[in-house]
Amino acid sequence: MTSLQPALSMTQPQPNVIAPQRAEFLPFALPDIGEEEIDEVVRTLRSGWITTGPRTKEFEQRFAEYVGASHAIAVSSCTAALHIGLAAAGVGPGDEVITSPLTFCSTANVVVHLGARPIFADICDDFNIDPAQIKQRITERTKAIIPVHHSGQPCRMDEIHELAWRYGLKVIEDAAHAAGATYRGRKVGVLSDVTAFSFYAIKNMTTAEGGMITTEDDELADVMRLLSLHGISKDAWKRYAASGSWYYEVLYPGYKCNMTDIQASLGIHQLARLEGFIKTRRRYARLYDEAFAEMPEIRTPRVNSDVGHAWHLYVIQLDLERLTIDRAGFIEALRAENIGTSVHFIPVHLHPFYRQRFGCKLGDYPNAERIYAGIVSLPLYPKMSEDDVLDVVAAVRRVVSLYRREG
Ligand SMILES: *Cc1c(COP(=O)(O)O)cnc(C)c1O
Repeated sequence: MTSLQPALSMTQPQPNVIAPQRAEFLPFALPDIGEEEIDEVVRTLRSGWITTGPRTKEFEQRFAEYVGASHAIAVSSCTAALHIGLAAAGVGPGDEVITSPLTFCSTANVVVHLGARPIFADICDDFNIDPAQIKQRITERTKAIIPVHHSGQPCRMDEIHELAWRYGLKVIEDAAHAAGATYRGRKVGVLSDVTAFSFYAIKNMTTAEGGMITTEDDELADVMRLLSLHGISKDAWKRYAASGSWYYEVLYPGYKCNMTDIQASLGIHQLARLEGFIKTRRRYARLYDEAFAEMPEIRTPRVNSDVGHAWHLYVIQLDLERLTIDRAGFIEALRAENIGTSVHFIPVHLHPFYRQRFGCKLGDYPNAERIYAGIVSLPLYPKMSEDDVLDVVAAVRRVVSLYRREG
């Protein structure tokens, strides 16, 4: 079994001769929690109703209104949202589900949880799944497609929906990065059968942990709501309210992934701030774009013309042929400059489980693997100041000039 750990021996940068320009470490990401969020959480704690209840209802209604969806169901994570969406779509043993290899492991893990097989389809230069690759992998066992909107840029949904329509497949979007994104003028959340959002601590908006499912389909909505709380018949959460009843019926062996009112208290106020957050993210992304435009060692993210990008991530691609260090070395050198970074993502098919269980191997998805080798996610969040952004730019410039391959 090949280890995922990069070989560091040849790639370690030399210690910098000069001290870092930035005195304090800039974390890769931080949440932005305001006083309104904190006050609301405290009010909820004092109210006596701390789990699923009136605030969760309110958050669901506001989120549905924001994206323009008929139904929004708050859950404990995007992972749970994907799991429930796939289960409601009827995915089970023997089925195949097509998704991107350049995603977080949970996109594929939930397919495995349902006894189905994840089938990866290679990506394009914009880091998103290639519809032509999806088409090549459709079989009679294919049940669903999970497009992942990498970095907050929507996938080519028209082409994906065309395939889904032609072959009778469900589309469950992994919109973990894409709260607030638009595709051809419409908000992500109304485009497909099911859309799954993440409110993890460092996503575009947060409830610490949490997720949301949206759908236009009344029947799917009913099933997903049941599945999110033990499969218990309607409004089970009201059991302990004055209007509630002790009686309930289990209609499916459901899961336990409801959202709490404590989380929803954060979510209501984070949602109100989301457009502002994205505006700041977009402004910082432009600063990066401009700063790196003239550097041949760095390729800035490709943005398609028909999308409203949510700018969850700013991912640069290193031209490794022009540098004397590899990506691991570049990250270490930025750390020495007090800049935190990350990598999104280690291609799922290269993880030991996926190699062992499904026989995935290096070489299966050449675009994803080539892109993976050079990507670095730079800090991009509203809690950063413009000076922080300029510090990142200066640090990247310094690292590139230290490790530029001459001639
Ligand atoms: C964060 C993330 C998830 C998982 O979200 P959780 O809310 O933590 O379950 C799924 N897919 C992608 C692409 C992600 O980045």
